[in-house]
Amino acid sequence: MTGTKSGSLSLEGFTFDETWEEKRKRAGRIVEVLMKTYPRERLLIGDPYRTLVHCIISQRMRDEVTYRVWGELFERYRDIETIANTPVEEMQRFLRERGVGLWKTKGEWIVKASRIILEEYGGKVPDDIHELMKLPGIGRKCANIVLAYGFGKQAIPVDTHVNRISKRLGLAPPRVPPEKVEEYLRELIPREKWIYVNHAMVDHGKNICNPIRPKCGECPLKELCPYAKGLVGNGDIR
Ligand code: SF4
Repeated sequence: MTGTKSGSLSLEGFTFDETWEEKRKRAGRIVEVLMKTYPRERLLIGDPYRTLVHCIISQRMRDEVTYRVWGELFERYRDIETIANTPVEEMQRFLRERGVGLWKTKGEWIVKASRIILEEYGGKVPDDIHELMKLPGIGRKCANIVLAYGFGKQAIPVDTHVNRISKRLGLAPPRVPPEKVEEYLRELIPREKWIYVNHAMVDHGKNICNPIRPKCGECPLKELCPYAKGLVGNGDIR
């Protein structure tokens, strides 16, 4: 496919010329390099409910704090029934005392989402993105995180690392919103590899492709990266 459109997606927003065919080929090589650089032998399948609660806590929070609070929360409350039966105010206090930002909203989301899952889904987290997004506190990114990390399904959560790195790598135009970045990645990357994209780009974003000063000189993707070649600039990326 060499035209400017692939479905509803366009090549026009990119800052350099490349056909869909070239882009798809380059995307495939990028994912291969990322998978080799950041292998994850452990299965990604976890517990959908705990993943969902983790994602609610994690919004605008540092990873270390999120993990600590999340661990303490399940030590104290154990399971979905206990959490659903916890007064919202108690959950809010629990989060506030542990320094969680937006504790009021998150406390309400955690308890209410748990009640809905129990009452409307028989206690099982739905494995459908649209159903997940009906739950309080669950936007598209969290829904994809639950699908990928909770259920082990092929999904591409676009967080801040995936958004930035995809744009530097010219896999999405530099000024589109995260939902659109997800669409480009789904178009360019073979489905059976979607699940690796988030974890590999998060690791890459923390280690090499940092937000402020990416270490392009030591990056295994530099030959494949338009940012490293000066074809995408920081000023282009939103
Ligand atoms: S070459 Fe630079 S901008 Fe491109 S992925 Fe690597 S670190 Fe990021």
